[in-house]
Amino acid sequence: MAAPGAEPFTVSAYAAPSEGSPLAPTTIERRAVGPKDILIEIQYAGICHSDIHTVRGHWGPQTYPLVVGHEIAGVVTRIGAKVTRHRVGDRVGVGCMVNSCRTCANCRQGLEQYCLNGNVLTYGSKDRDGTITQGGYSTHVVVDEDFVLRIPKSIPLEKAAPILCAGITTYSPLRHWKAGRGKKVAINGLGGLGHMAVQIARVLGAEVTVLSRTPGKERDARRFGADHFHLTSEAAATDELANTFDLVVNTAPEAVDLNRLMPMLTLDGVWVNVGAFSEPMPISVFMTFANRLSFAGSAIGGIAETQEVLDFCARHGIAPEVEVISADQINTAYTKVVAAEARYRYVIDTTTISSPRA
Ligand code: NAP
Ligand code: ZN
Ligand code: ZN
Repeated sequence: MAAPGAEPFTVSAYAAPSEGSPLAPTTIERRAVGPKDILIEIQYAGICHSDIHTVRGHWGPQTYPLVVGHEIAGVVTRIGAKVTRHRVGDRVGVGCMVNSCRTCANCRQGLEQYCLNGNVLTYGSKDRDGTITQGGYSTHVVVDEDFVLRIPKSIPLEKAAPILCAGITTYSPLRHWKAGRGKKVAINGLGGLGHMAVQIARVLGAEVTVLSRTPGKERDARRFGADHFHLTSEAAATDELANTFDLVVNTAPEAVDLNRLMPMLTLDGVWVNVGAFSEPMPISVFMTFANRLSFAGSAIGGIAETQEVLDFCARHGIAPEVEVISADQINTAYTKVVAAEARYRYVIDTTTISSPRA
């Protein structure tokens, strides 16, 4: 049978039927492959904590049913007539965005994640045809070729998937704030993002510290390349680290006590939040006066930079540590991610969506 895509077509997926309810098998429509579109047969989709925040309503109301998943890896099975960047059979990936305006000042700099006219996110976003985008917990997706990334040969697809969000989201701020030789960098939270951040910061040449609430993660932290490991649970422990780090990348998915943790930064130190939650975090201006500190945020990364991090991981032989699961294990995996028990990224074998394992 010819690959689907000449007409809109139905694919199998796992969706949240409503806010807070367990994900369940369903079918969704994908658009016909347009002249600049790529049809991808998805093989793996990573589970990002953002997927969980989204379907549990932490970030506000969504349109349901909703298929999440923005760490997508698969193979091209059909291309539109005007496609030039990818060919049938290519191993490709899709991250958090599937389109942007391409004309605003930020898009023109390759910063589509900060598109001034609103980019189209991989799920839960209004697409150019007015439909709501549906993500990677499904068997196929149709995406504009400019938002499709090449996966280097040396990276297995299941390990490539998490690089499309966890990898780029940590690579981008580490590069922007110049983590590298002579810099002391701390990563707060050793989860999906955190364990990529440690590996990337180490390759960039920084002295890397993991800050964690979980004593059992020390050995893993060191295996990923951390030079130091400290527990954040006790104030005494963080007080001892006062005036230490040039950069802290905070990956915690809930508010933390900035007034206790930011003083670990040294002169001109920067606290970058990538952890994404709606609760405000109080911040004492006097605390920031000491050592002229900055508080910053960073969202994913642009398309060119996402290709860069894939190539960087391939070149340096670094990859996420993944546990491949079948689709019927998604809800259990969500519970484990929230309990910080993932080691370190669950990745769904999306072929199990349409043909459940016996
Ligand atoms: P994850 O795998 O669950 O890892 C988060 C880690 O943070 C945990 O392993 C845990 O590490 C630590 N942590 C601290 N406080 C916690 C708490 N109250 N509950 C659970 N864990 C806690 O999550 P992730 O996929 O890395 O995502 C992390 C955050 O980044 C999420 O909020 C996600 O939405 C956000 N995110 C943002 C962007 C962006 O563009 N800015 C992109 C992707 C994800 P320890 O055990 O070491 O303490
Ligand atoms: Zn993500
Ligand atoms: Zn734009």
